[in-house]
Amino acid sequence: MTDVIIVGAGISGLVAAWRLEQEGLNVVLLEASSRTGGNVGTLSQDGCMMELGPYSFPASADAMWRLVEDLGIESSVVPARSAADKRYIFRDGRLHALPMSLRDFIATRLLSLRAKLRLMLEPFIPGGAREDDTAWEYFCRRFGVEAATYIMGPFVSGIYAGDVRRLGARAAFPKFWGFERDSGSMILGAMKYMRAKKKRLAAEGRVLHKGLFGFEGGMGSLTGALSSRIRGRIELNSRVLKADRIGGVYQIETGRERISAPSLLLAVQPHDAAALLENILPSVAPLLRRIPMAPVTLVHWIPAEADAGLLPPGFGFLVPRLYDVRVLGTVMASEVFSGRAPEGRQLFTSYYGGVLDPEFMQLSDDEVLKRLVQDHTIVAGREMHEPAFVKIMRYQSAIPQLAPDHPEIIADVRKLLSGAPGLVLAGNYLSGVAMNAAVDSGYAAAEELRAFLSGANPAEARAAS
Ligand SMILES: Cc1cc2nc3c(=O)[nH]c(=O)nc-3n(C[C@H](O)[C@H](O)[C@H](O)COP(=O)(O)OP(=O)(O)OC[C@H]3O[C@@H](n4cnc5c(N)ncnc54)[C@H](O)[C@@H]3O)c2cc1C
Repeated sequence: MTDVIIVGAGISGLVAAWRLEQEGLNVVLLEASSRTGGNVGTLSQDGCMMELGPYSFPASADAMWRLVEDLGIESSVVPARSAADKRYIFRDGRLHALPMSLRDFIATRLLSLRAKLRLMLEPFIPGGAREDDTAWEYFCRRFGVEAATYIMGPFVSGIYAGDVRRLGARAAFPKFWGFERDSGSMILGAMKYMRAKKKRLAAEGRVLHKGLFGFEGGMGSLTGALSSRIRGRIELNSRVLKADRIGGVYQIETGRERISAPSLLLAVQPHDAAALLENILPSVAPLLRRIPMAPVTLVHWIPAEADAGLLPPGFGFLVPRLYDVRVLGTVMASEVFSGRAPEGRQLFTSYYGGVLDPEFMQLSDDEVLKRLVQDHTIVAGREMHEPAFVKIMRYQSAIPQLAPDHPEIIADVRKLLSGAPGLVLAGNYLSGVAMNAAVDSGYAAAEELRAFLSGANPAEARAAS
């Protein structure tokens, strides 16, 4: 008998399936596409190792570390090379290294003297955290308009492919927002948080990781390891078309089969979850449809031999949305991790589109290539040739956009879910957009379902997870 039907074999669904099996439960995992991993995956082609989505995870990604330890795959985690510590921002016709020391901060031309002084005043600026703060209002208040424009804005488009003026500070940057609320300053709050974290980890005998991390075989090796541990049914090419709850039992249809179980986990993006909830909880569907999704186009490319040294070595660059340059940013993948490009060559990944440039999705491959050359000619300040290799990947619904009212949307969704005991949601839109949030939601969903199936009070199970 099936205990749990899981829809979606992205990383959140995989984590939940694996954990539930560890608890002795029978799981059926249904995936619309022909592979597991969802947005996480690695493609090897022509000597390149290209990520389909995420490249790396930060040291602070606690759920990722938990997963790595639980799977026992610590040895396949690789730190980013130290060269990747250097990041660049385009301003007024050239790339500026993001300052990493006080000396660099004083010397940089990325910000004017006035903006530097304003930024340094941050600990003395009175706290004013409001629940409806946009990320723009928050960063301007804390660091001043110029730093928000040239530093925080580009990072926001790098993470969310979003609009800093539409994202909510509390929803999209909950830690930062909490630092101001609790300590009156983002910088002081972050220092306090780091001190407490160091102390806690030392007491637990654990190491404090620093920097960025990836996997030797690419991110796909993580989802590959997870998939290989799942012993139960994983049905690929099985899009769930319909879900119902009849007499307290969940029933789903894939077009090939109908499956019933006492519990159902929807580990899919919010609009896909909305479609599957139309019959079960119709009032939840419009709430999930209110979460906007950013489209993203990825371009993996190897520069022509004549373009060696086109970009300064480092992690890559970001571009504020102020110039006639459509690229959001470019990651120098082969500088960050080894084994990404053929010997002696470099592999770059450029990001396009996002909520401020949704039309980019409509461009043909030739137009994308033309734009890539044009943009990098402007950013590098020298003529760029056609790349030696190009691979374009398009995602219509790539990254959820967490607006100021996002926490209330999710709170309302969770309240309404109590009307369908045994129904649980997982995914990266619930409490953050990174892989870490997706993994965390997979663990939480498994715990909630385990408690539900063992007869615990659903409200208590939800609270405990
Ligand atoms: C271009 C890009 C770059 C990114 N970069 C980073 C990064 O550097 N670092 C980072 O931490 N995060 C990054 N992310 C975010 C990260 O990829 C996500 O947080 C994570 O992969 C989300 O996992 P998920 O399981 O919630 O959803 P998904 O990966 O979207 O998985 C959902 C799965 O459900 C399946 N599905 C949907 N509907 C149905 C249905 N009806 N029936 C059956 N199956 C269905 C889909 O096919 C999919 O496989 C990036 C994302 C993208 C798109």
